[in-house]
Amino acid sequence: MLDKRDFYINGRWVKPAAPRDCHVINPSTEEPCAVISLGGQADTDAAVAAAKAALPGWAATPPKERARLVRGILDQYAKREREFAEAISMEMGSPIDFALSDQATCLPWHTNNFLTAFDHIQWVRPLGPQAPMSAVAMEPIGVVGLITPWNWPVNQIALKAIPAMLAGCTCVLKPSEESPLNAMMFVEFCHDAGIPPGVMNLVNGDGAGVGTQLSTHPDVEMISFTGSTRAGRAISKAAADTLKRVALELGGKGANLVFADADDMAIERSVRRMMENTGQSCNAPSRMLVERSFYDEAVSRAVAVANSIKVGPASAPGPHIGPVVNKRQWDQIQGYIQKGIDEGARLACGGPGLPEGFNRGFYVKPTIFADVKPGMTIEKEEIFGPVMCMIPFESEEEAVRIANDTPYGLTNFVQTGDAARANRLALKLKSGMVEMNGKPRGAGSFFGGVKQSGRAREGGVWGIEEFLEPKGISGWDFSVKSAAE
Ligand code: NAD
Repeated sequence: MLDKRDFYINGRWVKPAAPRDCHVINPSTEEPCAVISLGGQADTDAAVAAAKAALPGWAATPPKERARLVRGILDQYAKREREFAEAISMEMGSPIDFALSDQATCLPWHTNNFLTAFDHIQWVRPLGPQAPMSAVAMEPIGVVGLITPWNWPVNQIALKAIPAMLAGCTCVLKPSEESPLNAMMFVEFCHDAGIPPGVMNLVNGDGAGVGTQLSTHPDVEMISFTGSTRAGRAISKAAADTLKRVALELGGKGANLVFADADDMAIERSVRRMMENTGQSCNAPSRMLVERSFYDEAVSRAVAVANSIKVGPASAPGPHIGPVVNKRQWDQIQGYIQKGIDEGARLACGGPGLPEGFNRGFYVKPTIFADVKPGMTIEKEEIFGPVMCMIPFESEEEAVRIANDTPYGLTNFVQTGDAARANRLALKLKSGMVEMNGKPRGAGSFFGGVKQSGRAREGGVWGIEEFLEPKGISGWDFSVKSAAE
């Protein structure tokens, strides 16, 4: 078992102020694979103090130099890519091939996109031709606390830590206690890339401890959080006394509007997207709304796809899905499956219990419920497992009404061969993102929601500006070059 008890503070690995061990459990085997420490107030204070001390120097480092140092993280990643993917796979259950192709690669993908966006940031901008001596200076907000989840762990770290550092902020990262190993490797990449001491710090811990200590800390100016809506609310309240900026990426209950004129791959693509990462994606298309004339056909195609998806251990190569992250998630998903049956939805495939051939590991059968009615628990609440609901609709208006009748608003999806309808729907759906006909978000786009999915915009230029504060200046002389440029 790996001993990962230390924290990374001020450029060094240090012992926790008081020992408090926590096992990291491999969800494929239910065996502990590492031991970490859960930090306390003294550890959080030490990390925040290091970040605070490093802030003036890092904020004053010319943007080009910050970009050079951040780019160096990519070299470290390239040297240890396989090891990085193995850590993700072992701790959160992502099958190794998927961890290599989709999870680990989030780091270079986002870093490269941020570096491209970063080149276009104007640090001191004219307000406009109507006010020739007014300027807006973009300045780092200060020390930031980054609190991340386990489901796409590297994705979230990259979406927060990279733009924060580029912006000139200094950071304290608290990764999920379920998946700390990849985060500890990430700070090693930062260290080996020459990121100065104190710019990036890591303290492991839980939400009630380090998470809350960061959210309430008077020297932390901003919390960037991804995780459950429950924790997002708790953080907003905890951060209120110190009036921090809080950027939240929360849950989702994406609707996928499938019309009879959708392309031949639409159902298969949608089911695979739902089951990817064992359904543990906040932007999963978990409610498939199908035009009535195509509904029966869609159900039988969806069932055939779900039945073809294999389940297996994270360490095995291949395109199967792995276990869910832990016993709590497994129990919760089983509870939802039972609730779906009890409330009268039609179990079309999958269902309760472990898949055949398993007697340990947190495995779930790919499950589809048909004839789900709006308002049923499984239609309303985020299940966060490989469980999809299918709902027929009669008209475009009805589909939009069902899709928007949720407290969430992260990603909605449209599958149709009618381009005018697709564009019309994209503007009517209430969500931060709409993906149509399987087209992925483009390089440099942001990720973020509306309503109870949180209102952050992570990625691209928006994602860097989340960590900047505009300062309005009048009487600025644009003929003099500033240090920030
Ligand atoms: P979680 O909210 O329990 O934990 C996420 C992180 O927050 C962890 O690091 C945890 O230690 C910390 N945390 C928990 N309670 C806290 C508190 N009161 N104060 C401060 N920190 C706290 O969620 P999870 O179980 O790790 O992840 C699953 C949930 O996250 C799902 O609902 C999912 O939709 C959501 N999620 C959203 C996105 C997104 O981008 N919108 C991405 C991933 C996950």
